[in-house]
Amino acid sequence: MSSSVPSNGSVLIAPSNFYNVQQLTTRQKEAFVRAFQEADTNDAGLVAVSAIPNLVQQVLGSVSNHEMQEVQSRVDIRAHKGEVTFPDFMEIMTETMSSTTQWGQLKTPLSGTVGFDSLQTQITQKALKRGFEFNLMVVGESGMGKSTLVNTLFKAKVSRPSCMQVTTPIPSTVDINAVSHVIEEKGVRLKLTITDTPGFGDQINNKDCWTPIVDYVNEQFELYLAEEVSINRKRFIPDSRIHCCLYFIQPSGHALKPLDIEFMRHLHDCVNIVPVIAKADTLTVEERDSFKHRIREDIKTHNIRIYPQGYDPEDEAEKALADAIDALIPFGVVGSDRAIKVGNKDVYGRQTRWGVIEVENRDHCEFSQLRDMLIKTHMQDLKEKTDKVHYENFRRQRLQQHHEQASKYTGESNI
Ligand code: GDP
Ligand code: MG
Repeated sequence: MSSSVPSNGSVLIAPSNFYNVQQLTTRQKEAFVRAFQEADTNDAGLVAVSAIPNLVQQVLGSVSNHEMQEVQSRVDIRAHKGEVTFPDFMEIMTETMSSTTQWGQLKTPLSGTVGFDSLQTQITQKALKRGFEFNLMVVGESGMGKSTLVNTLFKAKVSRPSCMQVTTPIPSTVDINAVSHVIEEKGVRLKLTITDTPGFGDQINNKDCWTPIVDYVNEQFELYLAEEVSINRKRFIPDSRIHCCLYFIQPSGHALKPLDIEFMRHLHDCVNIVPVIAKADTLTVEERDSFKHRIREDIKTHNIRIYPQGYDPEDEAEKALADAIDALIPFGVVGSDRAIKVGNKDVYGRQTRWGVIEVENRDHCEFSQLRDMLIKTHMQDLKEKTDKVHYENFRRQRLQQHHEQASKYTGESNI
C-alpha cells in the first residue's frame, strides 16, 4: 500500500508540495480521503481513471459537462497505465474545487444561524437607497415609432412623439437629445435617461450620419473615465454611458438597408445594439418571420455584433441568459400609448380596420418579450456589458494612447 494513503480513515496531512492542498479544510480533506479509499478496492493506493468522474460527482455534487471535461484533462495529464495515485487524486480534486462553485459535501455545516444570509438584503437595501440608473438610446428614421415605443415600454410619457412636434422641422444634421426621468415602482427608483437621435437617416445624403452618435457614446465614456481617474473621485460616479441602443429597422419586409448595416457596424464596438422591426403590425406574421430570418442572415453575413455579445460561453447561467434573447432578435414590435377597450378590459393597442392589435399580446407582436428583456431580465446584464466590455475597450485604448504619447514625449526630450 502507498505510504501516503491512510487506511484508517484519519485526516491526511498533505505533503507541502501538493498544489494548494494545504489550503483545504479538514472536512474537505476527509471527504477526498474517504472517496479515494472507497474507490481503491485493492488497497493499492491507486484508483482507475474511469472511476474519477463518479468520485468528483460524489464529492462535489452536480458538475457541468464543461467542468467534467476539465477534470478529464487533469486526469489525462497525471494518469499512468489507466490509474492515478493518491497525491495526484488530491491535486485533481483541489484544482477542480478551485475552479467550480459546486462544493457539494465540502461545505462546512453550520450548527445555527450566523446571519450572513442577510447579506442579500443588505446589498438590496443599499442599492434601493441609491436607486438605479438606465440609459437607453433610440435610433432610426423619424416616424418609425421610436418615441411611442419608449412611452409604451415605461407606461409613461418619457419621450415626446413626433406628432406633437409637427412644427419642428427635421434637423439638417443628427441631433442628440437626452431626457431624464425618475420613475418609481413599489419603492424602487429608476433614473431613466432616453437619448433620442432625431434626424438620423432623414437626409438625402446619409453618409456618415452615425458619426455624431459614435462621438456621443464615446463622450459619455470620456466623462466617466475623467471622473474615475480624478483625484477627488466622487463616491458614485454619475453614469451617462449608453447601456442599450434600440435600433429601429423599417418594416420593409425585404432586407437590411446599407444604412442599417453601416450604423450597426460603426456602433457595435461601443454599445449594446438591440435591433427591432418597427411597426410590426404593418407586416403579416409570415412576412415578419421571414423578414426576421433575412435580417439575422444579413447580420451574420456582415459580421455585425449585436447584443448579447461578449459573454463567457463557459458560464452556463450567462449562456442561458444570452441564448434566450438571441433567439428572439430582432423583436417585431408595436407601440401605442393609447388604451383601447377590448371586451371589458382597457389594453394598450392599435385599432385597425380588422381589429385591435394588442401590444402586450404575445400572439400579436414581440413587444412584451422586448420589455421583459430590457426591464425584467437583462437590464443589469446590459449595464454590466457596457461597463465590462464596451467601456473597458474604450478605457484600454485611451490609456494606451496616453502611455504612447507620454513615451513619445520622453523619447523626444531625450534627444
Ligand atoms: P418617431 O419619430 O420615430 O419618434 O415616431 P413616433 O413615435 O413619433 O411615431 C410616428 C407615428 O407612427 C405616430 O403617428 C404614431 O402613432 C405611429 N406609430 C408609432 N408606433 C407605431 C406602430 O407600432 N405601428 C403603427 N402602425 N404606427 C405606429
Ligand atoms: Mg420621436
